[in-house]
Amino acid sequence: MHPDGYVTYLVDRNINYTNVCTINCQFCSFYRPPGHEETYTQTYEEISERIVELEAIGGSRILMQGGVNPALPLQWYTDLLTHLSTHHPSIDLDCFSPIEIEGVAEICEMSTLDVLRAFKDAGMHGLPGGGAEMLVDDVRKDVSPKKGSPANWLRVMEEAQSLGLTTSATNVIGFGENTSQRIEHMRRLRELQDRSLNVHNTGFTSFIAWPVQLETNSFGRRNRGQNKYTLGAGSSEYLRHVAISRLFFDNIEHIQASWPTMGLAVSQMALLGGADDAGSTMMEENVVSASGTSKMDASEAELQSSIYRAGFTPQRRNSDYEHLETAINPEATKMLIAPVPRQS
Ligand code: SF4
Repeated sequence: MHPDGYVTYLVDRNINYTNVCTINCQFCSFYRPPGHEETYTQTYEEISERIVELEAIGGSRILMQGGVNPALPLQWYTDLLTHLSTHHPSIDLDCFSPIEIEGVAEICEMSTLDVLRAFKDAGMHGLPGGGAEMLVDDVRKDVSPKKGSPANWLRVMEEAQSLGLTTSATNVIGFGENTSQRIEHMRRLRELQDRSLNVHNTGFTSFIAWPVQLETNSFGRRNRGQNKYTLGAGSSEYLRHVAISRLFFDNIEHIQASWPTMGLAVSQMALLGGADDAGSTMMEENVVSASGTSKMDASEAELQSSIYRAGFTPQRRNSDYEHLETAINPEATKMLIAPVPRQS
């Protein structure tokens, strides 16, 4: 699909606007239940300050996600989106995930489609693919019993696509699922992609997989009673999953390597195994990193360097994978990338 030798990357910032959540996913060390002393919700001004820092390095989008916070009504979100799109018109606002959309819909007694419409009208550019994890009912019931069903995740994504929002698909492996279940996840995405391309003339821009991070998780429910699963996935298994996904998704154009969870060295190898995108600078990340991954930001020069060293040409892009003008940092051609030690 990408014979031109370019590997794309995005200069962006992750923002995790609230850690209050009522969903209690087994693998999540980020959230705090309502009333917990460590809860936070950022103000519009605090979020804006983070975007100003992104603008200072020439970034083009934010990826803003958080917990399902029952204290935040629809208007909190629409006012936030209006504030951000007014003050930062050049930044694409890729925000929330299907479970957050379901949460707002439930609190406000609206349909998820109407919530998405209101968010789009207020300036939302895209709905990122967070919260998909493993779109297989058995696995989801075990690791995220209070999360919306796989069918709900797919429905909300299709609704977002019907409105022309930019969407991506994700996949977390290593919950003890078997190979058939991994393929089941990908099959459901591929079928939705076929339908969306036909019906809505749009679909997922990309597929991004990574192994569940386990350093600070006990996975009590998943390993309860008779159930003993081998959790997590190492580098070899991750790379094979990337390669299989490239072969499997004949209808999703881009496969993204995950340096935040695998380290830059393994993500370079993913570029040789089917991925054509090196991900993004992120600047900060708090959800996955709360479960143990160690390095959660990369400079543009680091991403360019890792792309060069894998044998490709770095190409800056925006959220829609349109190529942007790319200034190669002189440091990128000589910087040494130290492999990040990963769990086995
Ligand atoms: S993964 Fe998301 S939905 Fe699940 S508990 Fe954490 S913040 Fe909540």
